Amino acid sequence: MKIVIAYPPLSRKGDKKLVPLLSQNRQFQWFHSPTYIYPIVPAYAATMLKNAGYEVIWYDGIAEKKTYKEFLNFVAEENPDLIMMETKTPVVKQHWKIINELKTQNSKPKTVLVGDHVTALPEESMEKCKVDFILTGGDYDFLLLNLCKVLEKLTTELEPGIWYRHNDKIKNTGKFRLDHDLNTLPFIDRDLTKWQLYAYKNGNYKRTPGTYIMAGRDCWWGKCKFCSWTTLYPNFRTRKPEHVLDEIGILIEKYHIKEIMDDTGTFPAGEWLKEFCEGMIARGYNKKIRFNCNMRFGTLKQKDYDLMAKAGFRFILYGLESARQETLDRIHKNLKVPEITEGVRMAKQAGLHPHLTTMIGYPWETKENALRTIQLAKELFRKGYVNTLQATIVIPYPGTPLFDECKKGNQLRTLDWNRYDMQEPVMETPLTDADVKQFTQGLYKSFITPGFIFRTITSIRDFDDIIFILRAAKSVLGHLTDFRK
Ligand code: SF4
Repeated sequence: MKIVIAYPPLSRKGDKKLVPLLSQNRQFQWFHSPTYIYPIVPAYAATMLKNAGYEVIWYDGIAEKKTYKEFLNFVAEENPDLIMMETKTPVVKQHWKIINELKTQNSKPKTVLVGDHVTALPEESMEKCKVDFILTGGDYDFLLLNLCKVLEKLTTELEPGIWYRHNDKIKNTGKFRLDHDLNTLPFIDRDLTKWQLYAYKNGNYKRTPGTYIMAGRDCWWGKCKFCSWTTLYPNFRTRKPEHVLDEIGILIEKYHIKEIMDDTGTFPAGEWLKEFCEGMIARGYNKKIRFNCNMRFGTLKQKDYDLMAKAGFRFILYGLESARQETLDRIHKNLKVPEITEGVRMAKQAGLHPHLTTMIGYPWETKENALRTIQLAKELFRKGYVNTLQATIVIPYPGTPLFDECKKGNQLRTLDWNRYDMQEPVMETPLTDADVKQFTQGLYKSFITPGFIFRTITSIRDFDDIIFILRAAKSVLGHLTDFRK
């Protein structure tokens, strides 16, 4: 059986300059300055299938800058038995069209959709296009292997969470379960999944080549009202620290990786973190690579940050969703505003590089509230507590409590999924569209203070620093264009 894991080329209204940030991205965006995230769960799927003896082709038409015609030619030439595609709300309509076209062009490949949108609304995609299967939940790597074995008649039972057609009727195997042991996962076959496509163009890396791993799925907090990945992973599991460390060893030795981004929604804390850090130090990996992760405020103490810095951590990504306590409470962030400043202060004191992700456009936030968030970001940059920042417009993705709340309260402007692509607010808010874009740009501009520029220039130690600063500057200019009025 020949299987393709594919990201067909996509475009926004035919604009070829915009690149979709689709995979493993909790917030979809079209970028002017492309950044490519290693799609870790699809990469596990490819590896598991290959290890089970299937012929697997990895085709990332987005990162490989293919045209749609080239994608169709590729499918016609390879004539695979099955194609799996990851989708997300703003591009699901494009995927429906692609699947229908594949079905008319060549009836052989079975098509499979995965991702948070189809997990929230599987029936919709089964009805709107001719897709054969939908794998719901975030363990679709395990589910795809199970599906292939059933198609090959190696086993008879489909796992829970799979949608399919039988005698022209839409059927499913019930609610997905996340009970697979992540320690049974193989190490990702980085050659099969073309690791170099994702090793350079990514703003999270200071040194390249860089790569991604995932120590867990997906976030031990998992309750933020807007977070689309809680749809995929309602519970949290981790790999053992030892298992993750063994993978890091291979990445250093075999691929000469210099920086690793762990993309677990929130990196494990407590004993797990301690064991991991001590392992990094004991194995000497802290001298060979820099390690990056996502973290929550209000969890770690100074001693944890100090240990992380000693273990080789560099970049810590936090969500500063708002500087307004009422908003943090309303989105179930479980965070107090002062913990934000305290968190980045401690991380910075340890020598780490805190990165903030911020959001504008909550349906209940006024201009004044949004300005307070910009003020806090500015203040943190002024104090030198933060290195970089990313700003987004709040989008309520189907499957999230925020979507349900807005739908119930008639606060959704549209159910046209194409418009959920962060080019405009899709929730009614007290702010005008121009305000939302202006404030999002304002957040990007907030860190361009004389003090920040001075600190950046005086922090240059080597050539890697210069390249990183130039890349970051290009990326900020790109983001300012992303949110142009
Ligand atoms: S802490 Fe981050 S990853 Fe976890 S639920 Fe909230 S937004 Fe999602």
